[in-house]
Amino acid sequence: MYIETGEGFDRFTTSSRILRYIFRNQPVSRSEIAKQLGLSPAMVTTVISSLIEDNIINDLEKTAENDCKTSGRKRSLLGIRAEARYSAGVEVGMGHFRFCLTDLSGAILEQISYVPNHQQIYNVNTAIEQGVQKLINDSGVPKEQVIGVGIALPGHLDPQDGHMVTLSSNWTNFNAHALAESLCMKVAAENNVRSMAYQKYLFNYKTCPENFVFIHVGVGIFCASFTSGQLAQGSYISGEIGHTISNPEGPRCECGKNGCLQTYASESWIMQKIRILYDAAPHSLLHGLASCADDITLDTVLTAYSLGDETVTRILQEAVRYLGIAIANISIIMNPQKLYLHSCMFQHRLLRDELQRYTESQLTFLDKHCTEEINILDYDSSRAATGAAALAIDRLFICRQP
Ligand SMILES: [Zn+2]
Repeated sequence: MYIETGEGFDRFTTSSRILRYIFRNQPVSRSEIAKQLGLSPAMVTTVISSLIEDNIINDLEKTAENDCKTSGRKRSLLGIRAEARYSAGVEVGMGHFRFCLTDLSGAILEQISYVPNHQQIYNVNTAIEQGVQKLINDSGVPKEQVIGVGIALPGHLDPQDGHMVTLSSNWTNFNAHALAESLCMKVAAENNVRSMAYQKYLFNYKTCPENFVFIHVGVGIFCASFTSGQLAQGSYISGEIGHTISNPEGPRCECGKNGCLQTYASESWIMQKIRILYDAAPHSLLHGLASCADDITLDTVLTAYSLGDETVTRILQEAVRYLGIAIANISIIMNPQKLYLHSCMFQHRLLRDELQRYTESQLTFLDKHCTEEINILDYDSSRAATGAAALAIDRLFICRQP
């Protein structure tokens, strides 16, 4: 039992490099693997034989042979056997605990989701342990076939002591080391948005490039990035774009600075501003949609926006403007092959179109190709949990090949 922090996981063995290449490029031939990784064909053949023997990959020769009947050529292609192993992904957050068991392709076999009470948040390790055990039992998958447990955190992992680093005092009882001990399983833990980026990298390999940026806009705003197929680690503040300043004259953020992006474009600040304005604006359309300020939800806000409510429109357009500038700045500084944006709020078609348009208007001086690569993703509430399963597959299985 141990926890895998990601430190040093770039020191791949040859088997790890080959397996990871197959994950990302399947179906793929032996000769392409040798060429792309700069390995001898003999070395590739030896490793592939071992992976086939262990039932981790498939030799798709027969299929390929049928495809090539007319040419009479044999093409031997390799792919991952999705059901060779399974992975447990967990996301913990104040609003929900989610558990999912996936196969190696990211297909979900079993999932559990619930709103945690105060006790479950306080005793988060016990809740995770019970959830993972139930998940595996309900799926019927033998525990030895499960690679390990990935955990998506609303903070960062302290790899030394296993605790979560966060401004919140709710997670003091989380400890990844203790969890690995009590579950008798390997555990990998990572920030929740970085976990979402893993979901793209490993489970959407056909469209996800080696260099990309993943921005999540929710209660907070965070940015994860992959460069040459490696997750950028950085320190605990790395990726905290919500706390980059949009307007030095702006409102005081919870971090102590003024005018952070967070205070304009996060769901928490938008909701807070609109609830305050509910009482101050008696003619707002919000009064016909909610009976009191506390009843206002994100759906209420988006409905008021569709109806053209003046106050709501002003707040949301301000969010679009500052978020658009931040996205364009990241595009210019990092020049990723793709930039993904994940947000429940920006599923609203009008808002989504405005953000796309505004961001593109900030990038008109660049090659047009750059702006075409900003993708506002469909919102998926399970993305962090499935991402945690992908994280476990990469760190506890692919990178651990002998
Ligand atoms: Zn801040």
